[in-house]
Amino acid sequence: MPELPEVEHVVRALRRVIVGRRILATELNLKRIAPGTSRSAFDRKLRNLRVATVDRRGKYILIEFETGRVLMTHLRMTGKFVCVSADQSLPPYAHVVFYLDDESRLVFCDMRQFAKELLALAPEPLSEEFTEDYFRNTLSRSRRTLKQLLLDQTKVLGLGNIYAVEALFLAGVSPLKTADRLSKLRANLLYQAIRKVLQEAIDAGSTLRIDMSDRNGSYFGTTERFWRVYEREGEPCVNCGAKIRRIVQGGRSTYFCPRCQKR
Ligand SMILES: [Zn+2]
Repeated sequence: MPELPEVEHVVRALRRVIVGRRILATELNLKRIAPGTSRSAFDRKLRNLRVATVDRRGKYILIEFETGRVLMTHLRMTGKFVCVSADQSLPPYAHVVFYLDDESRLVFCDMRQFAKELLALAPEPLSEEFTEDYFRNTLSRSRRTLKQLLLDQTKVLGLGNIYAVEALFLAGVSPLKTADRLSKLRANLLYQAIRKVLQEAIDAGSTLRIDMSDRNGSYFGTTERFWRVYEREGEPCVNCGAKIRRIVQGGRSTYFCPRCQKR
């Protein structure tokens, strides 16, 4: 069973090969690996999406697309990702094949066919199902902090860390607020803000760029996008000039303005 550090290495390896790639088509060979989704629906939901980043939450691997959609996977006992070039044959137990726009194929394989629910698609915040009512209901059922709820890919939105932080700032809501205590007015502001930051990200294209010439640093160099608070600790707030603060919630950095996001 891969432990967290091994999963982190898988995530880093995946970033190197699939960030920026577009999925041209998918092949779901073991249907029960993606429960609740037909082969054609699976393909329709992923086709033409470009990978924005690959992330890890616990031992879940999150492949995040530019649209905000997230593909969540778990390696369980023996699952693994393999990337093969156009002239290589598929590895055994190739349960899912992603055809990428550089002619390579990303394959999810697992010798144990018993595994269920290895792949799940988190809800899509820009879809019609993501209504204000749905969002408020989800908030009202959770006693976690807003930031942590927004990052729970299994229950809520498929938001990444950057978008969650930016949306909270845009809505003027504290990341430390308990979800079920948010007022209706502020819940609606947050709902609008989530859609706005995602739409901005789509309009701006890819959010992250790998610097392949950097031998020592991380794969991600400077982010090209302008963020309102993300990674701006100590800098003046764009609204009020107060210093942006950074705290850690659930192992992830949260950036916020202590003046604009009091409540
Ligand atoms: Zn401020």
